[in-house]
Amino acid sequence: MSLKVYKFGGTSVGSVEKIQAIADRLLSESNHQHVVVVSAMGHTTDQLVTLCDQISLSPEPREYDALISTGENVSAALLSMAIIEKGGRAISFNGAQAGIYTSQGHKRAKILSVKPDRIKEELEKNKVVVVTGFQGVTFGNDITTIGRGGSDTSAVVLAAALGVPSCDIYTDVDGVYTTDPRRVSTARKLANVSYDEMLELASMGAQVLHPRAVECAKENKIILHVRSSFLPDEGTRVKENHAMELNRSVTGIALKRDEAKLSISGVSNAPGVAGKLFAVLADEGINVDMIIQSNEEQNETNTITFTVSEGDYLQAKRVTEGMMDALGARSVDGDTNIAKVSIVGVGMISKPGVAATMFKTLGDHQVNIQLITTSEIKISCAVQSDQADLAVQSLHDAFELHSSE
Ligand code: ASP
Ligand code: MG
Repeated sequence: MSLKVYKFGGTSVGSVEKIQAIADRLLSESNHQHVVVVSAMGHTTDQLVTLCDQISLSPEPREYDALISTGENVSAALLSMAIIEKGGRAISFNGAQAGIYTSQGHKRAKILSVKPDRIKEELEKNKVVVVTGFQGVTFGNDITTIGRGGSDTSAVVLAAALGVPSCDIYTDVDGVYTTDPRRVSTARKLANVSYDEMLELASMGAQVLHPRAVECAKENKIILHVRSSFLPDEGTRVKENHAMELNRSVTGIALKRDEAKLSISGVSNAPGVAGKLFAVLADEGINVDMIIQSNEEQNETNTITFTVSEGDYLQAKRVTEGMMDALGARSVDGDTNIAKVSIVGVGMISKPGVAATMFKTLGDHQVNIQLITTSEIKISCAVQSDQADLAVQSLHDAFELHSSE
């Protein structure tokens, strides 16, 4: 009897009827053992955050996690009950009972180890084991959460700990698309996408999978099968490089809307200047994304421009302004009207001219490129927010992502 590990997302367990449908499905596959990781029902976690906000805007992190982890307890217990009610055998576990041990950093705790002994015991008794996603426990027995959307990661670490080679992620979308299908009608579902591509797509706004789930799947060579709970459809497999689509240079296009740009001008063109600025930003916990440095006035001075997420903008501006004297800078300018458009594909490693096509396409559509960054499998351009949709659509057309050839 083979063991299967699944994750059902918030929409998939969003009502009693949906929970019962999952129970029916699990019971109909009685030739397998099942470990089922569940998210909180629907928008429960958001509602818990709203409740918290009404009590405190800077809650004790331990208590915050104790609160926002509870949504998963509800859905796990309900699913287990539904299975039992229908005549099956099941047991629900919270993170601690499932043996998911994390660091102490609340809200974004890291999973350090998984001891699935109790899960294995219950599987031996032919029970469906239902586990709360998103939560774990410290070695000191405090409840932690592992970051919003973290149930995907809970499922993957359990698959790894149980030696299962694949993990089915049931969600409210039916797979990973070439770009957001709600915005580009010609977006196409990908049958396969590589871990590295998915990481680039996931961390840049294609919010189908939690990025740490993809990293963890890559490390443990676990195939992630993303599929809809509601459609009997093949979905997308996230796995090692896929031969089929390698003849394409670009696999997908990601868009991140909530970017902001800061420029500090007139800083001296001397060694160590950029180091000073970015060290202070890092100390403040501000993540800097794209960076560009350009010379001014016969190389005497530079302008350094960088992007941060919009949520960090005000703090980053304050920090940068605070560095003006130390860097001999003339001015700091900012713009929150920025989006980042990225083309992603393992195929671009071996194909010349991909950047040229991207820049020419944007130029032909009068989209001005403000900053550029590249990695081996990604080229990103910062553009004005209100041109972002045009940029994505025109690139999707230019790289012919609508066609499966
Ligand atoms: N319920 C948590 C959230 O809404 C975790 C998850 O759904 O993956 O972020
Ligand atoms: Mg999710």
